[in-house]
Amino acid sequence: MPTPNPVRPSQAKNPLDRLRENLHYLGLTATPQSLESIIDKATRRTTPVTELLDAIFLDEAQAKFERQVSRRLTDAKIPVPKSLDGFDWSWPEKVNRAQVLSLLDLRFIDEKRNAVLLGPPGVGKTHIAIAIAHRACQEGRRVVFTTAVQLVNQLQASLSNGGLIRRLRAYTAPELLIVDELGYLPIDKQGADLLFQVVSTRYERGSIVLTSNRAFKDWGLIFNDNTIASAVIDRLGHHSDVVVIDGKSYRMKSK
Ligand code: ADP
Ligand code: MG
Repeated sequence: MPTPNPVRPSQAKNPLDRLRENLHYLGLTATPQSLESIIDKATRRTTPVTELLDAIFLDEAQAKFERQVSRRLTDAKIPVPKSLDGFDWSWPEKVNRAQVLSLLDLRFIDEKRNAVLLGPPGVGKTHIAIAIAHRACQEGRRVVFTTAVQLVNQLQASLSNGGLIRRLRAYTAPELLIVDELGYLPIDKQGADLLFQVVSTRYERGSIVLTSNRAFKDWGLIFNDNTIASAVIDRLGHHSDVVVIDGKSYRMKSK
């Protein structure tokens, strides 16, 4: 086994040892374990050099992608993993299944469009938002999952310690930002301004998936301000899929 975190290129005499140690030095840690068998097979079959190199770098590329996915999942701070595999489409009284499933192809992220999921409590808005977030991470995208209240609280807290720019960047840099649960709690004027900054900075630059229990016409009540509500809806809704779900809470199903 090569030394952990070598600080300089290998000086080993034996070329195989040197190759193994230098791959490790370069951070290509997947191959050293399979190196002997790859080379052994290649020697016995007189494999062309290109195929030998391909075998080495394919392993590395795959390992790098898997590391990246698991880092994306950790960074995204998804509350609990969910997928749409077991989603009961017959439960909501109203849901456009094709529209929801089309979000899972993630084209809206490439097109920097948004999705707004609207509906009463318990109809699966958060579930769907998580499934989209999870899929995006699996496809190597940078995602941040937060609630509207958490986002506003974090930004307000950062105002007092001079970290606003950095905090804002945490919400504007990811390719996908999920803002869950807008509308359960009122948001004050300063909070509304900060949320607007996030939405307008991401406008046409990065996707937002937002969930709310309130229809657009009632967003003035959330912010206690119709002007800011209209400005948020204008930016968010311009290039947006609006998914309206209706029905009884799934939480009631087992009762
Ligand atoms: P909302 O965000 O709309 O209030 P949630 O997504 O939190 O609702 O759903 C509440 C609970 O019910 C979650 O545990 C969710 O996984 C589950 N759930 C909701 N709708 C469905 C559904 N149609 N099929 C399967 N599970 C569902
Ligand atoms: Mg929810």
